[in-house]
Amino acid sequence: MGGSGTVSVIVIGAGVFGLATGLGLAEAGIKVRLVAATAPDLTASGVAAGMLAPAFEMALDPPAPEALDLLLASRDLWPDLAARLGVSLDRTGAAAIGPEAWLDGLEARLAALGLEGRPAGRAEMEAMSSGLGSRFPRALVTPQDWRIEPQAALQAMVRRLQDLGGTLETGTFTLRDLEHAVSPVVLATGADRRLEGLVPELASLSPIKGQILWQPGGALPPTGVIRTPGAYLLGSGGGFLAGATMEAGRSDLAADLEAQAELRGSLADVFPAVATEGWVTRVGVRAASPDGLPLAGAASRPGVFLAVGARRNGWLLAPLVAKIVTAAITGEDAGRWAARLDPLRFTRHGNGEK
Ligand SMILES: Cc1cc2nc3c(=O)[nH]c(=O)nc-3n(C[C@H](O)[C@H](O)[C@H](O)COP(=O)(O)OP(=O)(O)OC[C@H]3O[C@@H](n4cnc5c(N)ncnc54)[C@H](O)[C@@H]3O)c2cc1C
Repeated sequence: MGGSGTVSVIVIGAGVFGLATGLGLAEAGIKVRLVAATAPDLTASGVAAGMLAPAFEMALDPPAPEALDLLLASRDLWPDLAARLGVSLDRTGAAAIGPEAWLDGLEARLAALGLEGRPAGRAEMEAMSSGLGSRFPRALVTPQDWRIEPQAALQAMVRRLQDLGGTLETGTFTLRDLEHAVSPVVLATGADRRLEGLVPELASLSPIKGQILWQPGGALPPTGVIRTPGAYLLGSGGGFLAGATMEAGRSDLAADLEAQAELRGSLADVFPAVATEGWVTRVGVRAASPDGLPLAGAASRPGVFLAVGARRNGWLLAPLVAKIVTAAITGEDAGRWAARLDPLRFTRHGNGEK
């Protein structure tokens, strides 16, 4: 299938997985009809920080052991994707600031991963950001972690998809729609498991609620990303973002002031001037698979493909997931990472055993 411009694929979901996959298919000459219950800016993808962070994610909260090469492979697809979208990619890098013992542990984990983490002294730290307290004398800097501005990238993906003849509709795709679908269907449905009755692989996903705080304006915004124990701060949308809570098992979108106070507390040691008032709360729900990596490729139901389960790294992993799912539909070689992300890996032998 593919290449003729006459074949249609229905993609469900307008987060970064649905849009990146829809784009991959449209670029392969396939007609794409994208249906989503939530507009792109209101998805988990729309509220995310947009860090493309293989180094600090592997060192601070690895999605899975030995996932570094996979994360790097996807990050390295971003320059080309960003160029096709006409959006800028921030390759300034990221810095960690905090207690010596925490920095030492981080430095050791980066070194064990074979990644560069170089020290930076006060002068360089102050050039990175205003508002830094005087408590910590050094930072650890990695050039490996990049960033994309999510809202701009989502808008650019929609524009490019439409330029290539794809359509974007608002609506909810139901079990009945799936049962009667005659075209291939890509489920990029995030943490939503309403379709698991026909696609049992979706049952392996669990939700992790995330709250992120945006402060308009102010003197604080750093260049690049600054990580502290338990939080990060970065400039975004003319202000700055402080993120993010990780609330496993929760899929509600309610603001939770206690969790937010904890998040601000994690930043306060490094940024004592961080405000307690004036934050705008944004909430998204991440979908996590049991091994922390996405399900990308053909589902057990014929004609259904999955692009779900990104946990904390949906932005980072989107180009790789899009490439694998596109290849699964067009019949091209999906590359070396496809087997690792096989959607059937938790269900093939029952009960998640491989
Ligand atoms: C606070 C926060 C910060 C984050 N920061 C980062 C970061 O810095 N870097 C990074 O890489 N990742 C980050 N993430 C993770 C990342 O945002 C997610 O992994 C990613 O957004 C998941 O994208 P998705 O397309 O799978 O799902 P979503 O963005 O959740 O999109 C799902 C889409 O599916 C639609 N949908 C679901 N079911 C149906 C249905 N039945 N019919 C129609 N439509 C349906 C929804 O309406 C929505 O449009 C963050 C997440 C959060 C919450």
